[in-house]
Amino acid sequence: MKITVLPGDGIGPEVTAEAVRVLRVVGAIHGHNFEFEERPIGGVAIKQTGSPLPSTTLDTCLAGDAVLLGAVGAPEFDSMPPNLRPEAGLLLLRRALGGFANLRPAISYDAIAATSPLRSEIARGADILIVRELLGGLYFGEPRGFFGSNGDSVARNTMIYSVAEIERVARVAFETARKRRRKVTSVDKANVLETSQLWRQTVSRVARDYPDVTLDHLYVDACAMHLITTPLRFDVILTENLFGDILSDEAAVITGSLGMLPSASIGGSVGLYEPVHGSAPDIAGRGVANPFGAIASAAMMLRYTGSLEQEADEIEEAIRVVLKAGYRTPDIASGETRLLAKTSEIGQLVCDAVDELADMRHSYHAV
Ligand code: NAD
Repeated sequence: MKITVLPGDGIGPEVTAEAVRVLRVVGAIHGHNFEFEERPIGGVAIKQTGSPLPSTTLDTCLAGDAVLLGAVGAPEFDSMPPNLRPEAGLLLLRRALGGFANLRPAISYDAIAATSPLRSEIARGADILIVRELLGGLYFGEPRGFFGSNGDSVARNTMIYSVAEIERVARVAFETARKRRRKVTSVDKANVLETSQLWRQTVSRVARDYPDVTLDHLYVDACAMHLITTPLRFDVILTENLFGDILSDEAAVITGSLGMLPSASIGGSVGLYEPVHGSAPDIAGRGVANPFGAIASAAMMLRYTGSLEQEADEIEEAIRVVLKAGYRTPDIASGETRLLAKTSEIGQLVCDAVDELADMRHSYHAV
């Protein structure tokens, strides 16, 4: 597997280094040949080349199998026009790779359930995967813009979906549900919006190809409520771009810290895997960033681009092991935390746990 690593800015390089370290260990254990090519993106690329997404970076990404990204953005660029800022590089990259399905898990890890603002009896055990349509809907629909005699007296955006756009992301959700608890909740606003009525009809039709997966439908307002009152009712949530943007951030509170959250954008020519957080300039360079989100993104890469289900499971289990042993970065620490760990220590602990899990698996098979 050829993996393009784009560390980016701020804490991006710190957390991606740990994800790569874990991937190297997994590769060595299972005999996989992971090749890593590192390229600049974001602020660091602007400084080196003048562009937030240099053509050599994009070409390398398109020639590889998967992209592992850290984060982009730095305060020194905040006053620049949007198209010259580091974030523009990431938007261009996402469009070029063409991933139309954005996957964001929201998991309540037992060991850190207390860091969630939700009461632990509500959040504990929650394990949700949000599948959000990423390239259509209100964010891309035409016509859009400001209209009217003053040039800005009216503004318009267009929510538009075709059957083909809905069907392809629905299939991702159903296929993914088959590897989980076989339940898809499709979220729309079909009582008000025609796009949602088409969404609901199309998803219901696609569901007939997956008789082993249960489908239910929820309006987006009801879903927003259920996410924080009964999160355990969900397995896979399938929804369009705008609703998914909002619901996935809401679901993030289940986990407790931004640093824990991974993501994948798949369905295009090359999969893009990145933690949800930004470059966190306030803590960059101090070695205290939480790398679990980046490491879990690497696990998603193995699962969705590499079809390496067992290897992905092992990384995710290793994360649980390290948390259960009590190790914490400051963002997930509480008054009771005794094992405060640096970014690199967490990376090493996950590697050790992956190693131990592999040993246990070997001895189990030997028996
Ligand atoms: P942020 O996610 O960088 O940080 C928000 C808060 O969460 C900060 O207090 C930060 O210290 C903390 N945090 C984030 N990730 C953490 C981690 N892994 N471990 C511990 N703490 C963590 O969001 P922001 O402050 O709004 O944005 C900072 C910069 O990042 C901006 O330039 C923004 O445009 C950019 N950004 C980039 C991405 C991306 O690359 N995908 C996403 C969001 C923001």
